[in-house]
Amino acid sequence: MNILSVASEVYPLVKTGGLADVVGALPSALLPHGVKTRTLVPGYPAVMHKLKKKKAVGRFENLFGHPATVHSAEINGLDLLVLDQPALYHRDGGPYLDTTGRDYPDNFRRFAALSLAAAEIAGDNVIPGWKPDIVHVHDWQTALAPVYMRFGSARDIPTVMTIHNIAFQGQFGASVFPELSLPPEAFSVQFLEYYGDVGFLKGGLQTATSITTVSPSYAQEILTPEFGMGLDGLLASRVDSLTGIANGIDAEAWNPQTDPHIVEHYGASTLKRRAANRKALEDRFGLDHSPGPIFCVISRLTWQKGMDLVAEVTDDIVALGGKLVVLGSGDAALEGALLAAASRHRGRIGMVTGYDEPLSHLMQAGADAILIPSRFEPCGLTQLYGLRYGCVPVVARTGGLADTIIDANEAALSAKCATGFQFLPVTADGLRLAIRRVMRAYSEPKLWARMQNQGMKSDVSWAKSAERYVSLYSGLLAKG
Ligand code: ADP
Repeated sequence: MNILSVASEVYPLVKTGGLADVVGALPSALLPHGVKTRTLVPGYPAVMHKLKKKKAVGRFENLFGHPATVHSAEINGLDLLVLDQPALYHRDGGPYLDTTGRDYPDNFRRFAALSLAAAEIAGDNVIPGWKPDIVHVHDWQTALAPVYMRFGSARDIPTVMTIHNIAFQGQFGASVFPELSLPPEAFSVQFLEYYGDVGFLKGGLQTATSITTVSPSYAQEILTPEFGMGLDGLLASRVDSLTGIANGIDAEAWNPQTDPHIVEHYGASTLKRRAANRKALEDRFGLDHSPGPIFCVISRLTWQKGMDLVAEVTDDIVALGGKLVVLGSGDAALEGALLAAASRHRGRIGMVTGYDEPLSHLMQAGADAILIPSRFEPCGLTQLYGLRYGCVPVVARTGGLADTIIDANEAALSAKCATGFQFLPVTADGLRLAIRRVMRAYSEPKLWARMQNQGMKSDVSWAKSAERYVSLYSGLLAKG
């Protein structure tokens, strides 16, 4: 079975969040099932520079006004197709934002082009001798591919649209529609029209053969007005085509036995080995070497992630004898509040702003607990890394966090299956209570070690979820 996976980011080439991790890790989990994935991504400079060996396999004479080349390359076992269209993708800045942090004004065109390229690769013999059996698109940036396919020559090829976060919808003014090279009927409520605007994600959800999201709980939540962000009605009308499949992790990139970014690898006496990582972490963040749990945060600094709540409880963490290390970037006010806490509590709270993949590994290996107070969380990956590294997750009871962490309540503790702490409501007081529970548990070393070991035994691999994708794909092909 051949899959064309289409995404705006892929680890290890370009990553702003969990989407890249998933798109980068799923293909190798599918391969043992006979499913071969080719992953189409834009040729941003960060991608083009990392392609040591590439081969031009396809060409568009005119893709949104400019010629474009499709290169094939292999990186980390990923079979990549890179859409090289310099006018759209050769930019300073990130995949979506310019160097000043603003959305590129032509993002609609940049990602419509990616979607159109996918549709044409699926239908028009762009790559001689290769066609996918299924096109699998991820998030709004690729959501127009099923729409282009519906109106083009690939209309019989089934499509899967995965929602990694329904908060990002790709909504643009109606004035962009004439530029999208779609027939007028596509600007209707059955396709792109969304409250008078053009909705990329909306169009994809209307048109894709099957819809998935990244955890069973989030699949339920997005059917409600509270979490559906305006698309709950549409999703309810397509509920028979909606599935929640939890993400796994890349068990090679996140392996404490071999991780090149940590100071001491875990071995036979795993938990003892954490001590060296803890010390390195304290040094890196300028913390003192006092005892007490170190909490960590590795996150986009946004309201969704509940970072305002973390800022509110910093004094409590210190007063209770804990320490805190934060790695993140995003909202300037949240960044300011956390930096202020770090300067109020020198030696007890440390913060690194920005994006730092190696440091994120050391934090999981050296901190005792990871705080994830998200107001909503489609799946979340950092709690899964926490489980694998013995960094106990403290999570809001929502979406994928609720699905993957077993709360240390009385029943779970006596059954010895607890792996972390869940809390509700998602407020500063809710988080404060959870932190008190952590402090109590941490003061009982045996209980704490048991929770860490239990977490490290959890199955966070892709194995089960890959099987679910395979049966979804097989079902689509069987329907023909
Ligand atoms: P989301 O995709 O919503 O941001 P996830 O938990 O699904 O959240 O995935 C976030 C990914 O990005 C994880 O791999 C996490 O380790 C990583 N990450 C987030 N912020 C940073 C940062 N500042 N530096 C390094 N890695 C980060």
